Amino acid sequence: MSDGATPVRPDASDPAATAVLTIDLNALQANYRDLKARPGSAECAAVVKADAYGLGVAPAARALARAGCGTFFVATPGEAETLRRDLPETTVYVLDGLFPGAGETLAVTGARPVLSSLAEIEEWASVCAQRGEKLPAAIHIDTGMNRLGLYPDESAALTENPDLLETFDLALVMSHLACADEPDHPMNEAQRAAFETARMALPPAPASLANSGGILLGPAYHYDLVRPGVALYGGLAAIGENPMRPVVRLDARIAQVREAKTGDAVGYGAAQTLKRPTRIAVIAAGYADGIFRHLGASDSAPGLTGYIGDHPAPVLGRISMDLITLDVTDVPEDLAVRGAFVELLGPHVSVDDLADQAGTIGYEVLTSLGRRYRRVYTGE
Ligand SMILES: *Cc1c(COP(=O)(O)O)cnc(C)c1O
Repeated sequence: MSDGATPVRPDASDPAATAVLTIDLNALQANYRDLKARPGSAECAAVVKADAYGLGVAPAARALARAGCGTFFVATPGEAETLRRDLPETTVYVLDGLFPGAGETLAVTGARPVLSSLAEIEEWASVCAQRGEKLPAAIHIDTGMNRLGLYPDESAALTENPDLLETFDLALVMSHLACADEPDHPMNEAQRAAFETARMALPPAPASLANSGGILLGPAYHYDLVRPGVALYGGLAAIGENPMRPVVRLDARIAQVREAKTGDAVGYGAAQTLKRPTRIAVIAAGYADGIFRHLGASDSAPGLTGYIGDHPAPVLGRISMDLITLDVTDVPEDLAVRGAFVELLGPHVSVDDLADQAGTIGYEVLTSLGRRYRRVYTGE
C-alpha cells in the first residue's frame, strides 16, 4: 500500500483514528537551530503563542528547550501559566501586555509582561513597589505598525521620569515589523531607524526587533534577541522560496468509497455536477478541523487536492463540517479503499500551498489545525 515517500497508513495502530496529524519534533528542532545560526551571536527565542501555532505548546516548547531555547513569547497570561507550569526554568514574555489588575497574576506566574503603554508601565511599577521586588519586563515601542506599543516620543517622556524605570527591571526593549515578509519594503528600514532612535532614549537594555521574516532581513535587524514564530513551524516567513523544513503532515481516512453517474450532484448546495462516471472517496475531516470551506470545489472552480500515495484526488463540491468528498476515479482501485489515508498536508501539499489556495496565510492554516485529529509526535 505504501509507495515509500508517502506512507499511506501513517498510524494504522489506532483503527479508530479518523485523521492523523503528525508533528515532526526533529524538524522543529532543526528549524530552531537553523534560525539560531543565522543571527550569529544574538539569542534565539521562540514564539509559542496560540498553542505553538496550533502544534501543541507542551511538546513543542519542550523540544525547543532541549534544542537550547531558553526564552519564549506567548500572547496571554493564561498561555504563560501553562508554559511556566511545564517549563518552570524558562523565561516567558506575554506579548499582549498587562491588563488592568493582571500584574499580580503575572508576578506569581513568574512571567514577564511586554509593556505597551505608559499606563502599563506605571501599573507594573506599582506591582513591583507593592511586592518590594524589581521584577523584569519588556517595553514595546510602536515604530509604525500602529498596533501595540509606546509611541516613539513616549520613550523620551519616560526618560524624564527615571524613578518609574528604576522600579522594575527593564529586561528587553522591542518593536515589531509590519512588512518583514517583504524584504524590499521601505517600511522595514523606516521601522529599524525609528527603533534605533526610540531605544537610544531609554536606559541601555537588550533589544529585539526581528520575527521570522526579520531574521531573513539580515544582521542590521538582529540586535540581541530574535523572536521567530512561523518559520520554526515550517511556514513561509518571507516571499520567495521557503528555506525551512516542514513540521506537520495531515492524513485523513476514507470513510466510504462510492460510485456516482454523469450528471449527479455532490454535497451541500449541489455545487458540483459530475461530468463523468465518478468514484468518490468520502474522507473524515472538514471545516470543523480547519479545512477551510474556501477549499471546496464547484462547477466553476477547482478546490484542494488530496493525495493517495502520489495519486492526486481533487475535492468534489463543498467542504462539510466533518467530511470531504474527493474524486478518486483516477486513483488505482486497490489504493482508494475504505480505511486508507489521504494526504491533505505533507510532501505533495505544503502548509503554504494550502494557505494560497484558501486565500490565506500559513499562520492561519497552522493555528486552525483541528482539535479532533489524533496527534502523533515523532522524532526526538
Ligand atoms: C507573533 C509575533 C512574532 C512571531 O512572528 P512570526 O512572523 O511568526 O515569526 C514576533 N513578535 C511579535 C510581537 C509577535 O506578535
